[in-house]
Amino acid sequence: TIRTEGLRRHPTHAVEVKWKDHTVTIGGGRPVVVQSMTNTSTADTEKTVEQVLALARAGSELVRLTVNTPEAARAVVEIREKLDRAGCFVPLVGDFHYNGHKLLTEVPECAAALSKYRINPGNVGKGDRAAENFAVMIETAKRYGAAVRIGVNGGSLDQELLARMMDENNARPEPADPSEVLLEALVESALSSAKGAEALGLPANRIVLSCKVSTVPELLRLYRMLAKRSSYALHLGLTEAGIGSKGIVASSTALGVLLEEGIGDTIRVSLTPAPGAARTEEVVVAQEILQSLGLRSFLPTVTSCPGCGRTSSEFFQELAASTQSFLRERMPEWRTAYPGAAGMKVAVMGCVVNGPGESRQADIGISLPGAGESPVAPVYIRGVKVASLKGSDMAERFQAMIEEFVRTTYAQ
Ligand code: SF4
Repeated sequence: TIRTEGLRRHPTHAVEVKWKDHTVTIGGGRPVVVQSMTNTSTADTEKTVEQVLALARAGSELVRLTVNTPEAARAVVEIREKLDRAGCFVPLVGDFHYNGHKLLTEVPECAAALSKYRINPGNVGKGDRAAENFAVMIETAKRYGAAVRIGVNGGSLDQELLARMMDENNARPEPADPSEVLLEALVESALSSAKGAEALGLPANRIVLSCKVSTVPELLRLYRMLAKRSSYALHLGLTEAGIGSKGIVASSTALGVLLEEGIGDTIRVSLTPAPGAARTEEVVVAQEILQSLGLRSFLPTVTSCPGCGRTSSEFFQELAASTQSFLRERMPEWRTAYPGAAGMKVAVMGCVVNGPGESRQADIGISLPGAGESPVAPVYIRGVKVASLKGSDMAERFQAMIEEFVRTTYAQ
């Protein structure tokens, strides 16, 4: 069930990011959009296409690519064509730093193939060149109908702006803490750049803002300030969140708090992938954050107990994990034919103490026998016991029952 009541959303402009007939809307009260970024060299078209397809299949609704060289800019055109041929119309976002004005001008086909440009105001050039280069990128976005994200980052803040604001602060009778001035400078950089883009003729409903730092308390303060001072659609993300559980917990904490306050229209979870981990992990985490807040529904929910001394074997953990993987693998196909399956509740429980109770409350649930209990696992569908499974093929038989339940319950 997607929460629609009791949820305040910070009002923002609706920004349409389009590719052909496919439109993803960020802001304006629309469902929070999940996005991610490739980590391949964009010039390597084959690997990049492969990764974009994997990210899109995992549920990334926008995919960002680094566009840092003329080769990468030319590759974007080829990548877009290959994705189209594969039937994947996920809008692509170009990430530009330092030379975006040149690349977008020298490779106009790249400017046309991208649905959104990310511009970092701290990395567009120095002095007068900064304003000129910024204007070139905004004019290009206007020409090709692209949306723009003004993406300010704590690690690449406009140093001239920061120095000016620090000087102004020092001249005050009671100067603020320098860390506070830094946050204000980040917000100021984002808002003044957005106003600059509007002055150049790019409407507010084509502008998304982000202001990323790598610590949770500062990120919360930054986005509260941004939300208070503007109605631009907001892209949330904790930059350089880190590796493994550290990155997941920090991102979930920061994004969860802001989303619950109604702040944020699109999210990206920036994880340093653990060696061997799939790049799609960040999409899964982003979806889990939105689903646990009840903001969107991507995947059936699996209720499983932690297990304890009553659990008879590791089979319980294996069954919980294989059920979760099965649902994640099947959902892309179900999404078309049985979209209601995303709201399904599945229970996998470890013994008779809470097992039958939780399983009865799920749409479909299984309660494994604990140590010393009869070696039979009752399966419940919407509160009614429908089968008792036992034997080594229990996982396959439970999955077959889930498949059958989805086909008979959620067909459109
Ligand atoms: Fe332990 Fe049973 Fe509770 Fe699971 S349901 S945590 S196995 S007592």
